[in-house]
Amino acid sequence: MDHCEARVVAGVDVIPICDAVGPMGEPLRRPVEETFRNARPDDWTGLPTTEWILHFHVHLLRAHGRLVLVDTGVGGHDSPAAWWAPVPGALPARLAELGVAPGDIDVVVLTHLHSDHYGGAVGEHGPAFPNARHLVQRAEADAADDRARDTLLRPLAAVLQIVDGSAEVIPGVRVHLAPGHTPGHQIVEVGDLTITADLLHHPVQLANPAVTYCYDDDPEQAVRTRIEVLERVRARGGVIAPAHFAEPFVDLAGWAPRSGAVA
Ligand SMILES: [Zn+2]
Repeated sequence: MDHCEARVVAGVDVIPICDAVGPMGEPLRRPVEETFRNARPDDWTGLPTTEWILHFHVHLLRAHGRLVLVDTGVGGHDSPAAWWAPVPGALPARLAELGVAPGDIDVVVLTHLHSDHYGGAVGEHGPAFPNARHLVQRAEADAADDRARDTLLRPLAAVLQIVDGSAEVIPGVRVHLAPGHTPGHQIVEVGDLTITADLLHHPVQLANPAVTYCYDDDPEQAVRTRIEVLERVRARGGVIAPAHFAEPFVDLAGWAPRSGAVA
């Protein structure tokens, strides 16, 4: 179970939780060459030849007696992600194994309003984490589709905290706007660790950040943001924690962009 790979970063426990693993559901599945575009011949060696298996990671942060959950996974049988994701998500069971009750969570950071990231935020009786404030970027809330508005923003209205750009979540933990995948996509920084959410979808985008993903709202902005954030993390010798890689942490000291990959 991969939450055993927890790390302590700048005094914060960072616990990756694998909510689900599986192929993209049928309604959203595309051939690999349509899923990832702009790949150079060398990049294809790293891409799946048949089925792309995604991991769906959520991160639990613990510091100063506070608990922060970064994203809420795909949710249960009736979640807004149920039509395409390998549901139900295992987050509630994983949290219970860690001795964490839903009411113990102080803050939920929603990196963006795609249903595999917010699907576990609202249950049939309202907010799944009833004592938590829920951080969403203003640009993301403004761009929410009807499904996200009806199944998330309305039920969470009383506990929603809208942020603009950068903000402190708890001491030592900050969010930053990182647009492209969605207009108000945000990442979370803890010391030299960056929880990158959907800034990247596949390790090939580390070798060549110009490779785009078919469900990026603005692929060109996503490339600019990816390059900028990865350069910043690399300069610090830092580590990323992406949502959809098999590995919950990737140390960027071992990675360099393929030469000439970024025009
Ligand atoms: Zn995602």
